[in-house]
Amino acid sequence: MTHSNEELFECTELAGIVWQTSQEQSVVQSLSRQCPYCGHFTAHRGTNVHFDNVSCFESRHGTTRLIITQHLCSNPACQELSLSADWWTADNTVNPEKLTAVLGHWSLRPSSRARPQPEYIPLALRQDYEEACKIAALSPKAAATLARRCLQGMIRDFHGIEKRRLVDAIEALHGVVAPEVWAAIDAVRKIGNIGAHMESDINLVIDVDEDEANLLIELVEQLFAEWYVSRHQRAQRMKAITEAAAVKETARQGQQPQAPSQPPAGTKSTGSPSEV
Ligand SMILES: [Zn+2]
Repeated sequence: MTHSNEELFECTELAGIVWQTSQEQSVVQSLSRQCPYCGHFTAHRGTNVHFDNVSCFESRHGTTRLIITQHLCSNPACQELSLSADWWTADNTVNPEKLTAVLGHWSLRPSSRARPQPEYIPLALRQDYEEACKIAALSPKAAATLARRCLQGMIRDFHGIEKRRLVDAIEALHGVVAPEVWAAIDAVRKIGNIGAHMESDINLVIDVDEDEANLLIELVEQLFAEWYVSRHQRAQRMKAITEAAAVKETARQGQQPQAPSQPPAGTKSTGSPSEV
């Protein structure tokens, strides 16, 4: 992973990160980006990230600029293009190129943060998750409601815990799931209004901000991976071992010398053939 100083400088300037040569590795890691289509991590390089800096009209917002960012996934099997737009204020007194604060962010492609989820996750759960992602910025309240419903559905489907209230379903997970998973669930459920309304019916719309809604969505994503994807991958690995063992056994039987039905005249049977 090699980057020219210019590339790092360009990226870190736009991200508002103070760059020092000795911090190259951590900067590069922090600027790696996960492809929303395939999950592959791609480091920022001149060949797969491109910024267009567009000047805007002087307006009641002062001097502003629009940064259009393109990310090309470096996974040869994917090569998807992600597009986003960030609207910045610029410091006109010093240099109109100097960006100061973000006024807005829009993910143009894909249109939401939703990652494709495998089909072995129940459709109803995937739909709640995808809809929550789509509306997280426009209506965090609605997104949080969908994410809470998805969470309760996952606990019921995966762990067979059937509780009317989400708070009781989560409580029943204590001691059932891995300690670090429980710690994450416990931390998210206590946040602000999510925690204040934990005992409410999941269909009650609660007033949460975008960050809180995104945390709930992130928890759903992590539990999809921790529960469904891990279980599926483990099953696939075990199936592969079982099949490999069966192939080996078939080959072994094929190589086994067949005991002659009648020993040739003048020879003496040596008994069972030895193991291969
Ligand atoms: Zn990709």
